Amino acid sequence: MHAAVRRGCRGPLGATTWPGQAVATISRITQDGQHVVGRFVITSHRCYNARMRFDILTLFPEMFQGPFDASIIGRACEAGQATIVLHDIRDHAPGRHRVTDDTPYAGGGGMVMKPEPIWNAVESVLGFDPIGRPDAPPIVLLTPQGRLLNQSLARDLTAHPRLLLICGRYEGVDERVRRYLVTDEISIGDYVLSGGEIPAMVLVDAVVRLLPGVLGDPGATADDSHATGLLEYPHYTRPAVYRGHEVPETLLSGHHAQIERWRRQAALRRTWDRRPDLLDHASLTQADREFLAQLDARDGIETPTVPLVDDK
Ligand code: SAM
Repeated sequence: MHAAVRRGCRGPLGATTWPGQAVATISRITQDGQHVVGRFVITSHRCYNARMRFDILTLFPEMFQGPFDASIIGRACEAGQATIVLHDIRDHAPGRHRVTDDTPYAGGGGMVMKPEPIWNAVESVLGFDPIGRPDAPPIVLLTPQGRLLNQSLARDLTAHPRLLLICGRYEGVDERVRRYLVTDEISIGDYVLSGGEIPAMVLVDAVVRLLPGVLGDPGATADDSHATGLLEYPHYTRPAVYRGHEVPETLLSGHHAQIERWRRQAALRRTWDRRPDLLDHASLTQADREFLAQLDARDGIETPTVPLVDDK
């Protein structure tokens, strides 16, 4: 049984309220047997119209409530641009005790997530056995052993109308899940977290903000760090002078061409300074290369806080 149903109490329309929560943020089992948490219940009828749907399989669906309710992700769900459906793996564990983990064969510490509950959950969510089915969506295991998530991978993922995300726990999942059920493995970094829930949140956030219409300004992600292979230029807002620190003059000039140039050079310099490895793969113009050559020539003399060429 779903965590919310197990721990919650019955509300109107057969919905289940979370302990201490208003009915507006309810969790319930929808007609097709899925569990929709938080404000997603309101948008659940839009599941199949949404630009992108994420099915997240987890032992801790309640962990997603805050992060997915607020801000950009929450608004994208309300607007039907994305749909996030949470599935409690425990609901799919056989037996009265709904056991989802067991000790590893051949000993060793920790517990391993059993294959049956995960496999059953995937089949139940999809309504069919995905093995050998080219029409099945990607089934992604969050794991520190996977391909590193970066901006380019996040962008590639937006091409899929639907993704299934499996969150591991304990020592991880039974190897047969990884080998035969999962189609992709993604890591959010070279460190180990206690579970796949936070990595799933990171992935969903990185992908959803790239969906058309999710950010108010359609060009908002174009200059983001890593979008073009560079780190983004610095931002300033009012006041023009704060505690004696001034906003660069070019940014106040209203001169669009100069501002563009300042930003490009600032992005190049920042990348050169902090992540020179990125420059090997960035797409650079002749003017970019000349600017970088100037920085190289000054290397060891100039400091990163030296004003840009235009600011002098
Ligand atoms: N024993 C596993 C190993 O060394 O590869 C790590 C297991 S970790 C404690 C439990 C779960 O957290 C994993 O199954 C995975 O779902 C998730 N996880 C931990 N770190 C992660 C990362 N960097 N990226 C994606 N998922 C991660």
